[in-house]
Amino acid sequence: MRGGATMGFWDGERCEYCRGFIVEKIVDLPRKVGRKYALIKNVPAGVCKDCGTRYYAANVLKTIDTITHGRRKAEREISMAVYSL
Ligand SMILES: [Zn+2]
Repeated sequence: MRGGATMGFWDGERCEYCRGFIVEKIVDLPRKVGRKYALIKNVPAGVCKDCGTRYYAANVLKTIDTITHGRRKAEREISMAVYSL
């Protein structure tokens, strides 16, 4: 698909590690908020097609920062099961 309005933020960008193409994806991001883990959903990220490295736009990082510093109220709270090997 082509055309200015439909271009994603990451279109044409290359991965700084492997030079692979970066595609825009909506991801869920586990982050530590205070002493608890929280899942931040629907985060727009640029994901490298080749190595999977994720990139976040500055405004997205700022929003994540706001959330992880507890300045935004959670939509809902779920308990999270944690496993370790
Ligand atoms: Zn890469």
